[in-house]
Parts: sequence; structure tokens; C-alpha cells
Amino acid sequence: MPWVNAEALELRAMAKDFAQGEIRPYLEGWDAERRLPDEIFGKLAEMGFLGMSVPEDHGGLGLDLTTQLLVLEALAWGDAAVALSVAIHGGPVVRALLDHGSEAQQAMWLPKLASGEALGAFALSETDAGSDATALELEARRGPEGWTLSGRKRWVTNGDRAGLLLLFARTGEGSDGISAFLVPRDTPGIEGMGRERTLGLSASETAALDFDDVHLDDEALLGPEGQGWEIARGSLVVGRMSVAAQALGIAQAAYEHAIRYSREREQFGRALSDFGATREKLARMAQRIEESRALLLMTAGRWKVAAEEGTVLGRAGEDPLHLPASLEAAAAMAKVSASESAMWIADEAVQIFGGYGYMRDYPVEKLMRDAKGAEIYEGTNEVLRWLVARDLLHETEGS
Ligand SMILES: Cc1cc2nc3c(=O)[nH]c(=O)nc-3n(C[C@H](O)[C@H](O)[C@H](O)COP(=O)(O)OP(=O)(O)OC[C@H]3O[C@@H](n4cnc5c(N)ncnc54)[C@H](O)[C@@H]3O)c2cc1C
Repeated sequence: MPWVNAEALELRAMAKDFAQGEIRPYLEGWDAERRLPDEIFGKLAEMGFLGMSVPEDHGGLGLDLTTQLLVLEALAWGDAAVALSVAIHGGPVVRALLDHGSEAQQAMWLPKLASGEALGAFALSETDAGSDATALELEARRGPEGWTLSGRKRWVTNGDRAGLLLLFARTGEGSDGISAFLVPRDTPGIEGMGRERTLGLSASETAALDFDDVHLDDEALLGPEGQGWEIARGSLVVGRMSVAAQALGIAQAAYEHAIRYSREREQFGRALSDFGATREKLARMAQRIEESRALLLMTAGRWKVAAEEGTVLGRAGEDPLHLPASLEAAAAMAKVSASESAMWIADEAVQIFGGYGYMRDYPVEKLMRDAKGAEIYEGTNEVLRWLVARDLLHETEGS
């Protein structure tokens, strides 16, 4: 496979073995109990998977993005809730620290994130600020000795378990009035408002968090004041690719279950896989996985070049391939493509399983429930298409 190096394939194989041995045997129980056990995070840390994106000099594995995405896909093939947790921690949270953290902030947080001592969470959405995240209201007031936060965040993945919140708060007017903060989760005044009850990803921790006059030191500000929205956008480029990888893992799992079951199950004296209708479904499933994976890997390749050039947001000077979309839009397309593939494939897998597919005792209904989430978080697919169209038309934000 010329576009993926040997190290990446080795790590992917390790992650697949890990998912097979340490995740798949337990996922039904985790889904039913609506929680991931502490032990799985210890095991993920031992394997280095919580430090994939952290450079080696800060205690991580320092893997390139393509390798991280292959590992994430393998973890999601095990369980999408585990992969989502890792994707947010190692994706936008670590990325924002690497791109905007001071030396002191990086030295303080990256080793803890790499070792799993602190899990990262991304706290942007609020009750009335979802797709229009720039409408967020949680307020950060500057005082003589730091900052005070008041307000509420909604739908924070890893929200209760996290050690570090990458939090976006209002420090002024409009999108230039948003700033990013590194907030230790155990800061007095932060209260978990309980886990949301979700359709899928039941074991994932989606929590609301209340901030009641939470005091932060000056050093908690990440990047310059007022740059929070740019920081969020930049880190979401990687975040959306991570969600795409997670969705691909779901798609791959659903496809494999469908292949196996269609060979085993007989009706009218023949295996389901003998029927033209089933064969067409299987062929389309495989095609969609290949298409989405190819787009994701190509976008990861583009990201590497853009990260080196400092052009992750905006357009690079010369694009030899004359690709229509900027990298930010391509990452959005990769997320839309993979999440829609996952949803469609999981739906078709349930159909191939027939009545059994609809039963909790069989694996595919969970995959369908899990896949739906990826069409919503890190930007709904409608809003991401809007972002893509704006990019293609060279319009600026807000138009
Ligand atoms: C499982 C889960 C985990 C999550 N984890 C996190 C997290 O870790 N951190 C975080 O900050 N957030 C998280 N979220 C929140 C998520 O990012 C938001 O739910 C999402 O951005 C959509 O916002 P909303 O729910 O307010 O929907 P709304 O913005 O109210 O949208 C409702 C519908 O209207 C459509 N719509 C809205 N605006 C437009 C438009 N301009 N054009 C066309 N259609 C539009 C949307 O596509 C959607 O279909 C999570 C959500 C879920 C479900």
C-alpha cells in the first residue's frame, strides 16, 4: 500500500488486535450499562493510543496524522464510543495545544494527556449555540488576577472523566470576542449536570457542565484573547478527520457483519449472498467505504503539507492538482462522506440481517445507532455542506 507506510500498518494491526481482544468482548455490557470502565482508559494509555498525537519529547508516540486515523478507525471497529473519546482527546484538544500553547502550557499538559493522567474534552457547544457556535454565551471576565467563567456547556464528550477542558468562552462581541481556555476539570465551581441519555454511543460520556464563578489564572488563556474561534476552526479540521475515521470504523464493522451473515443465513434454500439484491448492497457498501477512506487519507496527506506551510486555514498559494476545495472544506467533506457512508451501510446491514438485525442481541442495530451521531457532532452534515459551498464560492464566514 504505497500511500500508507509500514509503521502505520503495524500500528493499525496493533489497534485492531487491541479492539478484538480488549474492546469487542465487552462492548455489549458497556452499551447496556451506559459507561466505559476506567480500565479501558488505562489499557488505551498503556498502548500509547492516548498519546498518538503528542510529540515524543512530551511523552507521546508522535505519530503522523494518517497513522492516527488508521488507529482510530481500528478502535471504532471495536467500539465507536471508545474511539470518540480518543478522537476528541487526541484530535482537537492536543492539536490546539500544539498549535497555540505556550511552552509552559505544553509542558504542563502534553505529558499528562499522553500518559492518560488527564483526558481531554472539547467544550464549545451550548444549549442555544450548536451549529452557530459563535453565538456562545459562557462568559469569561478578566479580573486583576485572572479570569472568571460563568455559564453552561452542553454535550461535552468526556465531560465528567476529563482532566482538561479546552473551553471556548465569550470575552467580547461577535466571533472575534471568543477566547480559548485550558481549564482543569477539577477547578472549584465546575459541576457536572449529569450524563445525557443518547440514542447511540451509549457508553460515551456526553455531559452538560455548569460553571459558577470559576476562577482561572492568566495562564489558562490559550493563544491571544479573541482568537478562540480561529483556534476552534483550526483544531476542528483535525477533529473532523478524526470523526471521519471513527465513522469508517463503524462502516467497516457493519460491512463485515453483513458479509458474514449473508453467507451463513439461508432462505429459499440459498444463502442470502446468492440473491442479487444482497450482492448489490454488499458491492455498494464496499464502494462507499473505499470512497470515504480514500478521501480521508488524501485529506490527511494534504493536511501534513498545509501544517508544514502554516496554511491549514485559508488557501495554499499554488495547488498543483487544482482541487476545488480548501483543506478546511476537504476535512468537512471527509467527515460528511464517512458519516453518511457509515449510516447508510449500518442501515443496509440491519436490513440484510432482517428481523434479527432489529434485535439487540445482534451487533448491527448498535452500529446504526452509533453511526447517527457522526452525522451530527463536530458540525452537522448540513452545516458542513454549507461551509463547503461557502468555500467553493470563495465567500467569507458570516456570508
Ligand atoms: C453524541 C454527541 C457528542 C457531542 N460532543 C460534543 C463535544 O464534545 N463538544 C462540543 O462542543 N459539542 C459536542 N456535541 C454537540 C454537537 O456538536 C452539536 O449538537 C451540533 O453542532 C449541532 O448543534 P445543535 O444540536 O444545537 O443543532 P442545531 O444547530 O439546532 O441544528 C438543528 C438542525 O438544523 C440544521 N441547521 C442548523 N443551522 C443550519 C443552517 N445554517 N443550514 C442548514 N441547516 C441548519 C442542523 O443541520 C440540524 O439538522 C455533541 C453532540 C452529540 C450528539
